[in-house]
Amino acid sequence: MSQGTAEPAVSIRNAYKVFGRRAERGVEKLKSGTPREELREEGLTAAVIDATFDVPESEIFVVMGLSGSGKSTLIRMVNGLLDPTAGSVTVGGVDISRFNDRELRSIRREKISMVFQHFALLPHRTVGQNAGYGLEVRGVNRSDREAKAAEALKMVGLDGWGGYRPDELSGGMRQRVGLARALAAGTDVMLMDEAFSALDPLIRREMQDQLIELQQHLGKTILFITHDLNEAMRLGDRIAMMRDGRIVQVGTSKQILNEPANDYVAQFIQDVDRARVLTADSIMESASEALQLDSGLQAAQRAMSQQNVASLVVADSAGTLQGVVHEAEVTARVLSGGQSLKEILHPVHGVRPDSALIDVLPHAAATGASLPVVDDSNALLGLIPQATLFRALADPTTSSHASAGDQQEVVA
Ligand code: ADP
Ligand code: MG
Repeated sequence: MSQGTAEPAVSIRNAYKVFGRRAERGVEKLKSGTPREELREEGLTAAVIDATFDVPESEIFVVMGLSGSGKSTLIRMVNGLLDPTAGSVTVGGVDISRFNDRELRSIRREKISMVFQHFALLPHRTVGQNAGYGLEVRGVNRSDREAKAAEALKMVGLDGWGGYRPDELSGGMRQRVGLARALAAGTDVMLMDEAFSALDPLIRREMQDQLIELQQHLGKTILFITHDLNEAMRLGDRIAMMRDGRIVQVGTSKQILNEPANDYVAQFIQDVDRARVLTADSIMESASEALQLDSGLQAAQRAMSQQNVASLVVADSAGTLQGVVHEAEVTARVLSGGQSLKEILHPVHGVRPDSALIDVLPHAAATGASLPVVDDSNALLGLIPQATLFRALADPTTSSHASAGDQQEVVA
């Protein structure tokens, strides 16, 4: 185990997979700049070209790309079902690309489990036996197997279903059994190839939520393959974007949304539901614009006119959120000789840093002021001005035009 060290769980270096006769020659050609299409004429398919990335322990790493872009080939090199034509694949600190079949089988039993799109359940066995199958292959005794299988079924919400047959379960439940089987195997690394792609949208979302929860709880390293960018963004700590065998960008969902590496990625992200992907902390600004509770009415008036806003968020000297004040009330108080902000303070809801923008919108509308972002103890972490919120929700490729246009109108 490489616990506590910086050793990545999975490490891929300049990996190639070319299918066809004399595949190594294909690699040489690719290295010297021959385009992938030309190899086709010689009967060679370059499925993965020069892939390099690390997956740290306990990360959900998503490989995303259209059908045929090389995702399954890449993941099959990680569990040793395919060996790379060139380059190296390291799992848990060991280079498996030179392993023989026996060593690979043992890696697949002990270190890596796989969840497939079509569940791959054994129809004549019970749900419990299916969940314990990886352990059976490994020679674990029956009572241990059954205990581990039951525990895993409970984790995926199938407590009590162990005695049923797979065909008595819905599609979503069958995929939970597939997940339970991988969990029961107790491996550090889980590979999931389009595991949720065959599920109905609502069930799919449930499974995504459950996977995130399980991962936070169990700390597995997960390589998750999908062709659905919304799914990639929801699940991935980081995402590798693949196109025609090459990884064209690796980054967090925010990096990919805000700095797409090329036009191809930019095209892709136009379809992303930004309101569900972006979180409050990714767009919040400094909390320094917040008003100090003891700074008084005059200071409030000055700050509002300087910032040209009609409402301000107020925090105490310890940085804890107190509420908002509104311009009309501040002015009225000043005129009637008041001093303190306290009497005109209105309660305000602070949002959590990991809230999706779709969930903060109602609060932003209700607040009128910038939206406060707070931690568990209501300490102010940042503010989201309304204009910032709108800009974040707009597609960046169109918003730059829009803001240029707006400015011209204002100037004219
Ligand atoms: P994805 O999972 O992204 O849909 P794949 O990795 O399955 O992509 O396939 C990438 C390319 O490699 C495709 O052109 C596919 O036809 C080809 N390919 C995959 N497996 C084989 C194989 N065993 N023999 C020949 N070509 C293959
Ligand atoms: Mg595939």
